[in-house]
Amino acid sequence: MKHFAFLLFIALVLFLPVGPSPEYWITLANYIGLYSLVAIGLVLLTGVAGLTSFGQAAFVGIGSYTTAYLTTAYGLDPWITLLIGVALTASAAFALGAITMPLSGHYLPLGTIAWALSIYYLFGNLESLGKYDGISGIVPIHLFGTALSGGRQMYYLIWIVVIVAIITSRNLLNSRPGRAIRALKGGGVMAESMGVNTAWMKTVVFVYAAVLAGISGWLYAHLQRSVNPSPFSLNIGIEYLFMAVIGGAGHIWGAILGASLLTILKDQLQGILPALIGGSGNYEMIVFGILLIVLLQHAPDGLWPFIRRIFPQARSVTAPNQAAELPAREKPTVGTTILEVKNARKQFGGLIALKDLSFIVKTGEIMGLIGPNGAGKSTMFNLVTGVLPATSGEILFRNEPIDKLQSREIANRGIARTFQHVKLLPTMTVLENVAIGAHLRGHAGVARSIVCANQEEEAALLHEAARQLQRVGLKDCMYEEAGSLALGQQRILEIARALCCDPLLLLLDEPAAGLRYQEKLALAELLKKLKAEGMSILIVEHDMDFVMNLTDRLVVMEFGSKIAEGLPAEIQQNPAVLEAYLGGIDE
Ligand code: ADP
Ligand code: MG
Repeated sequence: MKHFAFLLFIALVLFLPVGPSPEYWITLANYIGLYSLVAIGLVLLTGVAGLTSFGQAAFVGIGSYTTAYLTTAYGLDPWITLLIGVALTASAAFALGAITMPLSGHYLPLGTIAWALSIYYLFGNLESLGKYDGISGIVPIHLFGTALSGGRQMYYLIWIVVIVAIITSRNLLNSRPGRAIRALKGGGVMAESMGVNTAWMKTVVFVYAAVLAGISGWLYAHLQRSVNPSPFSLNIGIEYLFMAVIGGAGHIWGAILGASLLTILKDQLQGILPALIGGSGNYEMIVFGILLIVLLQHAPDGLWPFIRRIFPQARSVTAPNQAAELPAREKPTVGTTILEVKNARKQFGGLIALKDLSFIVKTGEIMGLIGPNGAGKSTMFNLVTGVLPATSGEILFRNEPIDKLQSREIANRGIARTFQHVKLLPTMTVLENVAIGAHLRGHAGVARSIVCANQEEEAALLHEAARQLQRVGLKDCMYEEAGSLALGQQRILEIARALCCDPLLLLLDEPAAGLRYQEKLALAELLKKLKAEGMSILIVEHDMDFVMNLTDRLVVMEFGSKIAEGLPAEIQQNPAVLEAYLGGIDE
């Protein structure tokens, strides 16, 4: 039952060409298959990772022209040119990705537009590639001694490749690198804090999408038996984006749906529109534009979610009952200094958010950082975890400076955190969200994941996530969507995720905010238990009662400076603290 929909799909694909289905349908289905391949890549790239590329048609072009040129000019076998084409597409994507990925925002879309334009003109102007006439007389692909010379023969090859792409993409999404890719959306601060190298992951998914496009191009060249630059233009790159977005940018099946809808619609409109409007022209683009705007207003996730409801929902990722334990870090001796902040300063333009703040945290203690809103507590966390660089000052973790390190390197040394404004992936299950925390404790990359050679490690990671959920008391919601939890529970989820990193120092930014009284008690119990196990905890909190009964020591901040430090009982009596709190209560 689990794979019912998928099997139905395969049956459909198998039986379509059997019997008297007209050539017209076969041709259409072939194109849908070719477009689907590209759109699947875009679903991962744009829908899942949040990266927009206008350049997929150009990658298709590289795959097409490579095989067209090498098979006609040098008589190479198409299977060899497939490998060369894939290598070329991957290298081009890698180079483009390496340049644009570390830059944020619109550099990637702009980079891909420039790429799409230059590749198109390159094809059109190179003498050896036949300029705008292109290359014709391309040989058919031979498979098991048969030439795939007609549409019907190519049909099976195309759709087998599509089905393989669906399976590998699904395997990828439900894996360690897949979770990292999904965590890219929303800026990547959370992903980096969990140890993900976001620039690398972005490049990887970009290359993956480009390779799918390149394979589509290879198939296209041998289906069409001739190539010219027009199907590889920027316009077509935009059409591929339409397909992914209309179908449902976050869903692999959305790619198939979007490719089918647009191909059929375009085919129909090309017949109808010129007759209606008169004259010839690419009117269908206008219709697509309007369609997209209307659709995005009403169904921002595309059309697939509506269709998905029809099929029985299978849980794709479950925690195993048993799995190998992941290795854990040795905790330092209780009482030694684990974190030392020396004269940390942070300026945002003219605003001094932290004014030369110093404090230490010892192994095995719960230290509280309190102060009114805007005091600089979260900024302090961002400095310690490498989210923001300090303007000056030093931060030592286990006697080593960490203030010049990247977030993920700091995570790797054993500091894990939660966020004041929760950062989780709302449509992913609680279990998978927590498993992101175990990123650094696994090693499986894309290659191992897509062929399912990561199963043992994957089981261990998910098992660990489930164990941490049990520890924080969220095991019952393991398979719910994280976004459906109450805010207080989402904060607890973040603690489980942080614990999955196997940290030595845990930074909690207002973990009790939004919790009910009973839940606060449970949280305090959990933190005490962690402390008893040798965990060091730095906690930012607003709720005075909560910190008073929980912490060993407190640092009180106001306007970026430390105004008091000491035992909770002392702090409660401190006149400066009372002044700051009475003068600045903000809840
Ligand atoms: P707290 O967590 O104690 O409430 P924050 O650390 O969030 O305080 O903020 C301290 C001060 O720094 C505030 O005035 C805030 O507006 C400012 N601030 C925090 N982050 C940034 C930022 N990224 N850019 C500019 N100002 C910031
Ligand atoms: Mg804050």
